[in-house]
Amino acid sequence: MSRLLIIGCGGVAQVAIQKCAQNSKVFTEMCIASRTVSKCDALKEKLEKQGTPVKITTATVNADDVKDLVKLIKEYQPDAVLNVALPYQDLTIMDACLECKVDYIDTANYEPEDTDEPTWRAAYEKRCKEKGFTAYFDYSYQWAYMDKFKEAGITGLLGTGFDPGVTSVFTAYAKKHYFDEIHTVDILDCNGGDHGYAFATNFNPEINLREVSANGSYWEDGHWVETKPMEIKREYDFPQVGKKDMYLLHHEEIEALGRNFPEIKRIRFFMTFGQSYLDHMRCLEDVGMLSTSPINFEGKEIVPIQFLKALLPDPASLGPRTVGKTNIGCIIRGVKDGKEKVIYIYNVCDHQECYKELGSQAISYTTGVPAMIGTALVLTGQWKKPGVYTTDEFDPDPYMDMLNEFGLPWVVDENPVEVE
Ligand code: NDP
Repeated sequence: MSRLLIIGCGGVAQVAIQKCAQNSKVFTEMCIASRTVSKCDALKEKLEKQGTPVKITTATVNADDVKDLVKLIKEYQPDAVLNVALPYQDLTIMDACLECKVDYIDTANYEPEDTDEPTWRAAYEKRCKEKGFTAYFDYSYQWAYMDKFKEAGITGLLGTGFDPGVTSVFTAYAKKHYFDEIHTVDILDCNGGDHGYAFATNFNPEINLREVSANGSYWEDGHWVETKPMEIKREYDFPQVGKKDMYLLHHEEIEALGRNFPEIKRIRFFMTFGQSYLDHMRCLEDVGMLSTSPINFEGKEIVPIQFLKALLPDPASLGPRTVGKTNIGCIIRGVKDGKEKVIYIYNVCDHQECYKELGSQAISYTTGVPAMIGTALVLTGQWKKPGVYTTDEFDPDPYMDMLNEFGLPWVVDENPVEVE
C-alpha cells in the first residue's frame, strides 16, 4: 500500500505511470502532477478506462518553485516523490522532499537551465579544472544532500532510468555474481530504431542535444580523459540490431561507478548515431541553434535551443512511427578465481512492441520501466537507506528480477566481442 506523487507527464513519465499501474500491489494511489495538467488528466482517463485499481488524482505544479512543491506534498501526503520532469528541477524537488521528509527518486542528474548564471558558472568552471570534464551536469549538487537526507531519515535514489540506472545495476550484478574484481566497463547504448523523420530526438530535445553536442570523456586509472565531441568512433555488431557506428560520450553513470568501484580501471560510454542525425546536429550547432544563452528576437527574449525544441517533433509522438530495436548493455571485463573473463549483459527492446503495450517508443519505455522499479524498491523498503545513492549502491538482484517481470528482460553473453 503506498501513495506516490509523480512530477512530470512527458514521454518517460507516461511509461513510468502506466508501469506503476501494472504493479498495483505496490502502487495503490498516485497523484500525477505537472506543468500542463491536461496531459495528466488524459493519462488518468486512459488508465481509468482500462479499469486500473489504482486511485489516481492529478494536480498542476510548478516544479521550479519549492513552495509550490511543498504545498502539494503537504496536501497529498505521499510516501515518495518520483521526479520525471527535467534535470533542471532536481534540486527544487529534493529541497521540497527534505522539508516534508519524503523519499525522492529521479532518472537524471541535476543540470541548470541557465548555464550563464554567474554563481553557477563560477562553480562549473572550478569543477571543470578540478575534475577534468566539461559536461554541464555532475553529481556533486545532489551528492551534497547526503547528510541532510540521512538526518531527515529519507532515501534519495538518483538516476533510475536505463542509462543511468539499469547500466549501473548491470555492473553491480556482474560484481556480485561473476567477478571478484572488475577492470573495465564499456556501456553501449544502441538505438536501431527509425522514426522516418530527417531529424528528431528520442527524449527531451534540449537535454538530449546538450548531452550529445558536449565533449566526450571516459574514466581511466582514477581520472577523466576528455575528448572532442564525437572524436572516438567505433563500429559494433549489436545482437538483434546489427552493425552500427557508435561514438564515445560523457555520461553520468561513469562518475558514480568511478567513485563507487575504485577497482575499475577504465569506464567508457558509447552511443550509436546515424549520419543524418550527426549532420543535422552539426549544422544546428554551427548556426547557434543549440545555444542555451537567451537572445533578443524582435523585442522578446528567446533561448535558441528552447525555440528549436518547439519546432522538433515531440518525442512522445514518435511511438506510432518508430520501428526497430534498441540494445543497451555493459561489456564487463575482470577477474574471477584468478582467471580473466568478460561478459556482456544487455537488454533488447522493440519500439513497436512498446507502442503496442503502452503507446510509447522504446527510449521512453526503457527509461520509464526502471523508474517504476526503483520507486517500487524504495517504497517496499528493499532499497530504503537514508541518504542519497545511485542504483549501483544497492542489492541488484530484486531490480534484475523486476526487469524480467516488467518488460525489459536481459541476457548475459559470456563470450562477447569486445570494443577495441
Ligand atoms: P519530456 O520533456 O517529455 O517531459 C518532461 C515533463 O516535465 C513534461 O510533462 C513537462 O511539462 C514537465 N515539466 C517540465 N518543467 C516543469 C516544471 N517546471 N514544473 C512542472 N512540470 C514540468 O521529457 P522526457 O520524458 O523525455 O524526460 C524526462 C526525464 O527523463 C528527464 O530528466 C530526462 O533527462 C530523463 N531521461 C533519463 C534517461 C535515462 O536512461 N536515465 C533517458 C531519457 C530521459 P509540459 O508537459 O508542460 O512540458
